[in-house]
Amino acid sequence: MKVYLLNPPFVHRYSRNSRWAARCRGGALYYPIWLSYAAGVLENNRHRVRLVDAPAWGWNLENVKEDIKDFSPDLIVGESNFQSLTNDVGVIKEIKTEIGAVSVLVGPPVSQFPDRILNDGVDIAARFEYDFTIRDIAESIEDGSGLENIKGISYKENGRITHNPDRKFSTSEELDEIPFVSKVYNEHLNIKDYFLGHTLYPMVQIFTGRGCPNQCTFCSWPETLMGRKHRVRNVENVVDEFEYITKELPEVKEIFIEDDTFTIGKNRIKEVCSEIKRRGLDITWSCNARANLDYESMKAMKDAGCRLLDVGYESGNDTILKNIKKGITTNDSRKFTEDAKRVGLMILADFIFGMPRETKETAEQTIRFVKEIKPNIVQFSIATPIPGTEFYNYAKENNYILVDDLEESLDEEGFQKCIVSYPEFTKEDIGSYVDRALKEYYLSPSYIPIAMRNVMRKNGLHELKGMLKSARVFLRYMGRKK
Ligand code: SF4
Repeated sequence: MKVYLLNPPFVHRYSRNSRWAARCRGGALYYPIWLSYAAGVLENNRHRVRLVDAPAWGWNLENVKEDIKDFSPDLIVGESNFQSLTNDVGVIKEIKTEIGAVSVLVGPPVSQFPDRILNDGVDIAARFEYDFTIRDIAESIEDGSGLENIKGISYKENGRITHNPDRKFSTSEELDEIPFVSKVYNEHLNIKDYFLGHTLYPMVQIFTGRGCPNQCTFCSWPETLMGRKHRVRNVENVVDEFEYITKELPEVKEIFIEDDTFTIGKNRIKEVCSEIKRRGLDITWSCNARANLDYESMKAMKDAGCRLLDVGYESGNDTILKNIKKGITTNDSRKFTEDAKRVGLMILADFIFGMPRETKETAEQTIRFVKEIKPNIVQFSIATPIPGTEFYNYAKENNYILVDDLEESLDEEGFQKCIVSYPEFTKEDIGSYVDRALKEYYLSPSYIPIAMRNVMRKNGLHELKGMLKSARVFLRYMGRKK
């Protein structure tokens, strides 16, 4: 069967798979990572796949229509996110009409709004984690067995919507069966299209595990896509992929491990790091981490080629951290940051302005905290309540959300826009603290020694190029705001 997997056209360089799904101020562009995993599963089951990344290729709807005619698929799978849902449904409907294939929508909003999506004209809504669901849909169409036994889908038949039971989340064993996503990138995409300001360039993003058992109230991945059950690929399988990348994608300068929870198990970290060293792999990698990671694990990671930790600190105020159920205090974060620096790991520190009960005082505390811990790179986001999360329910119940639809959380160029406002901390306050915090950190003389240290590391020239690229995009963004 021929399956067309589409990251639909939307605003220029829209990162549909980033946490806040927007065009990134630093110019980042994420891989369509989940669609790419689905491509691997389909190919493993002998289906023919065309994977199209319209935002990366600068394609509009007309380009997609031309391309899909040539491929003439039996099944069209479009990915969506909350911020682009109407657009994505519209694109899928239009190309389905042209081609006459069965259409499926996947991605975070599908688990929350399957009825809306089906009523708007998509044939099937594949809820939550979807790689194996798409395989089952393809097989049921091929052998004519019908949709009624496929777990995790909703569909409309004779005007009536049916919600089949949820599919169980993948197991660790199933994750080991999925082909390397880097192989899919190699065969279907151009790795030079993708860029993260905090990694060396070019880079690839991979998962070594899925699901997060933590309870952060604002985080949508566990609630809308990957679940809370943590499952992991085996160590051999992960390091085999590292080896594949070093051999088959020699131009790649860094692997970024996108797991929410790569640093959750101390033993597994040690095993992965020992295996990388045992095989003598000379590859730089980075990962997401929580600010309670211990010194020994960080030391092992650094020795095995780890360069940077992307860490959700979120706030410099302990009450806010408690409210958002981060499970980490500012003192944990201080200790962690010192240890990471001792080991020689770089830190990308993520903060959010505008979580419930934020005030000017707590926001000031966050700015002071950032200046105190001095991360190598910082990122400040506008708190966005995403359907399915505790934060969304709280903001909705208290009438703090200013819009009816998350699509209004992007401005006309696709950058993140504030859609919450509290009596004690308004929408304008949130926006101005994000801009002020960025300016005060990066444009202050005290950032110069940090930037110097960044470029004096191994791969200093690549560090410099990445910083300059992000700085150019950031300054353009600030100029535009003025
Ligand atoms: S630890 Fe990270 S992935 Fe897990 S719930 Fe918190 S923010 Fe989300």
